[in-house]
Amino acid sequence: MQKLKNYINGELVEPQLGQYIDNVEPATGQIYSQIPDSTVEDLEQAVAAAENAQPAWAALSLEKRAEILTKVADAIDGHSNELAKAEAIDNGKPFSLAKNVDIYRASANIRFFAQAITQFSSESHAMGNEAINYTLRDPIGIVGCISPWNLPLYLFTWKIAPALAAGNTVIAKPSEVTPMTAYLFTKICNEAGLPPGVLNILHGTGPSIGNPLTTHPKIKAISFTGGTSTGAHISRVTAGMFKKLSLELGGKNPTLVFADCDFEETVENVVRAAFANQGQICLCGSRIYIERPIYDKFKAAFVGKVKALKIGDPLEPSTQHGALVSKPHMDKVLSYIELAQDEGGTILTGGKQVTMKGRCRDGFFVEPTVIEGLDNNCRTNQEEIFGPVCTIMPFDSDEEAIELANGTQYGLASSVWTNDLKRAHRVAKEIEAGIVWINCWLLRDLRTPFGGVKSSGVGREGGLEALRFFTEPKNVCIKY
Ligand code: NDP
Repeated sequence: MQKLKNYINGELVEPQLGQYIDNVEPATGQIYSQIPDSTVEDLEQAVAAAENAQPAWAALSLEKRAEILTKVADAIDGHSNELAKAEAIDNGKPFSLAKNVDIYRASANIRFFAQAITQFSSESHAMGNEAINYTLRDPIGIVGCISPWNLPLYLFTWKIAPALAAGNTVIAKPSEVTPMTAYLFTKICNEAGLPPGVLNILHGTGPSIGNPLTTHPKIKAISFTGGTSTGAHISRVTAGMFKKLSLELGGKNPTLVFADCDFEETVENVVRAAFANQGQICLCGSRIYIERPIYDKFKAAFVGKVKALKIGDPLEPSTQHGALVSKPHMDKVLSYIELAQDEGGTILTGGKQVTMKGRCRDGFFVEPTVIEGLDNNCRTNQEEIFGPVCTIMPFDSDEEAIELANGTQYGLASSVWTNDLKRAHRVAKEIEAGIVWINCWLLRDLRTPFGGVKSSGVGREGGLEALRFFTEPKNVCIKY
């Protein structure tokens, strides 16, 4: 059985207390590796390494830092098949998705911030003939990056890349449920010549290592992506410690389909928006509102396409819908499907666990599920399910669509499907969300601000926002 190790000071090391946690392959339900159950002892070792490495890393020229990070991105590309296979095994997602989305983006994230830091500039404010101010932006020091299981290496690199590019050293914790690609990434970092101690990776659970990481006095900023309740917990335990916090949290994203949309293209993309990665993307559109004149036609076409999604072994090239990430998560998703029926919903397709044959017979597969007939205020439409479950509902006016879309505590992403330009702009302005896609979904420009409003988070990632987060501004005022 493979035993993963922590990555401290450029070396792969065992957890100091020698304790491990089982790691399960979701498609088979079998334990296939073990990961360190890290503790504060490991954290102290990582903090010492990061503290020691930080001055030299920050002192490197921007070009040199960019060159090393670009080599890391190149090395990801060089190992993309191996990484995509590892992601598919560890997470249950189809190999094709892992290769074309997750691993592609992991490399793109690092390449993007390697370039961005060489173009990063700060402000200057002239005060007439009296004085000039300029802003210095220095690295913060040691920062903590905590990432979730749904897009493991993709979101891990999305955090560490700007942190490292800005001259910080990092202590990162991937999700205990999907540790494998972060572990393989350590070998890539060494191959690319990342100096020891610049990036340190600790594996383990939220309580045992995530919590001490967020509260460590020498870790001055925390970039966290995960559930809203964990984000609230981190806010509470760090209150009074004056850390910088970036919290990217849950969503319950609306999809608004207007009668004047390009029908076929919309159906296809709304299916993708609801069920990509088995619905386990924070940006997935799980509440689908359809303008009444096309409701029946859209419903028939949509359900038809969802039924046709090929459920299968994540490692099979033809698979479109893989396994859910874990048994507890599958049980949670199935409990929401039951709840939806108790709340009066009708299942149009799906609704059940799938028992596969062969190597996947004990895997965590759930049919893509479409439900109608529910009220906007019921729990199914208010709580994040984070699985292959969506609801469809009709609406009669733009105002009603906006009210329904805004009627949850969340505000991460949304998509709007219409050919009416004025309506597109108006609805985009009114929707309470950090991201609005018009006639597209998950089309990403890494320079744009990324994040949510309301209970979906605090702060923005992406482009200059991330570089600003990972630096400390200092104003210098010079009198003429
Ligand atoms: P969790 O909040 O359970 O976990 C996220 C990470 O935080 C994991 O690494 C987890 O460790 C760790 N963690 C758990 N408890 C603590 C703690 N007390 N202190 C510090 N760290 C802790 O989220 P999931 O992994 O279940 O991810 C799914 C959630 O992430 C969904 O709500 C989804 O919407 C959200 N998400 C948001 C995105 C965004 O950009 N807004 C993008 C992607 C996902 P461990 O798993 O090892 O316990």
